[in-house]
Amino acid sequence: MQIRFLGAARNVTGSCYCLEVGDSRILIDCGLYQERDLKERNWAPFAVDPKSVDAVLLTHGHLDHCGLLPRLVAQGFDGPVFSTPATMEIANIVMQDSGRIAEEDAAYKRKRHAKEGRNPEDLKYPVVPLYTKEQAEAVAGMFTTVEYNNAKTVAESIEATFHDGGHILGSSMISIEAGEGEDKRRIIFSGDIGRWDVPIICDPSTFEQADYIICESTYGNRDHKPNDQIPEQLASIVNDTIKAGGKIAIPSFAVERSQELLYHLSGLLSEGRIPHIPVILDSPMAIRVTDVFEKHPELFDEEARELLKQGKHPCDFPELRETRTSDESKMVNKYDKPCIIIAGSGMCTGGRIKHHIKHMISYPEHTILFIGYQAYGTLGRIILEGAEEVRIHGREWPVEARIERINGFSAHADRSEIFKWLSALKSPPRKLFITHGEQEAAFAFAKYVNEKTGWDIDVPDYQDIKQLD
Ligand SMILES: [Zn+2]
Repeated sequence: MQIRFLGAARNVTGSCYCLEVGDSRILIDCGLYQERDLKERNWAPFAVDPKSVDAVLLTHGHLDHCGLLPRLVAQGFDGPVFSTPATMEIANIVMQDSGRIAEEDAAYKRKRHAKEGRNPEDLKYPVVPLYTKEQAEAVAGMFTTVEYNNAKTVAESIEATFHDGGHILGSSMISIEAGEGEDKRRIIFSGDIGRWDVPIICDPSTFEQADYIICESTYGNRDHKPNDQIPEQLASIVNDTIKAGGKIAIPSFAVERSQELLYHLSGLLSEGRIPHIPVILDSPMAIRVTDVFEKHPELFDEEARELLKQGKHPCDFPELRETRTSDESKMVNKYDKPCIIIAGSGMCTGGRIKHHIKHMISYPEHTILFIGYQAYGTLGRIILEGAEEVRIHGREWPVEARIERINGFSAHADRSEIFKWLSALKSPPRKLFITHGEQEAAFAFAKYVNEKTGWDIDVPDYQDIKQLD
């Protein structure tokens, strides 16, 4: 019995583990690399032959966990993909969007090369998309859905149970019983660990026993700012902007963050803490993901279920407008009364939010509100760092609008929360593998846990193979 670490090993994205038990071989996640300097790996041949993989188990629908599945299938994988129903639905939206963007990027590059007079035959690599939307759509028919807490045989000598991960809707931690008789081992894949007491979704599951644990460490070296101030901060920013007669633009990630924001806005509106202004969800992808939320109230936590009982939906309220077409989106730019616009992309690197920011950023009455991480070099980060002018769509725009940020939104457990999750174990595992964190975070967390517990801990590197005995 052995495990190969094929992604998210001393880095965050590209989650992929290969578990081999006897003649069986399964993958847990098959994610896309998103770190700029690791993106090359998306194009590399798979470390194991896709045709030799019996099944893929998907922890959740984020791109860095499912985004290479279309490529795996295009290269010959033809087994089942096991996931919860909500993960299947979100992953399909995310993979197809990723295929569409890959096609658009390739077309744009070809156009640029033609403009520059470069001969396509002189290029080192042909300009082709990593995979097409059609290839992403091909994955949709390969899912076998599983409910939480139901053991399922996924390959010979491998039985898997999905447990609520509390990270995004439908997300899972997967416990695997591998091997036979005395050699049977329990291996737990943490997936992305969610947080306790966040809106809509349930708390992360915990486990009392495991032989091996593969544990994420995205925030393994720090604790989050408290999130109990979010409604207060949101209300004050909205009210100040309305007083100034302006609009509020909020760049937001389509999966989970947008729905969490809708939940808070819904609460503020129904409690009368902000006036009844339109809230415009101007992101086709966020709208589709919100539809998935509407379909799965059985996954909601107690507070969200209580709202449903009162006839309210946590992500739907009378002031909410959804703009599905780009013509509708353009109308939003012309709307000159106070309103709240939620649009992607989350770091303002593309999408409709750029149009909104362009129309708003040079007027002092408007507010741009950031609620998510802004990576270095992105338009979002440049605005947040106080640029006086920003370049959007080939033109400089002076920054006159109010720039605000709310910390405390996070779908990932922080150091204390991951440790709380591990502390549910009643006896030490044979080994704890720390993955899915930047080197610094992963090693710091390994040290932190080792000092507190004395457990045997490993921080595996990319493509490492570890025996599980
Ligand atoms: Zn995730």
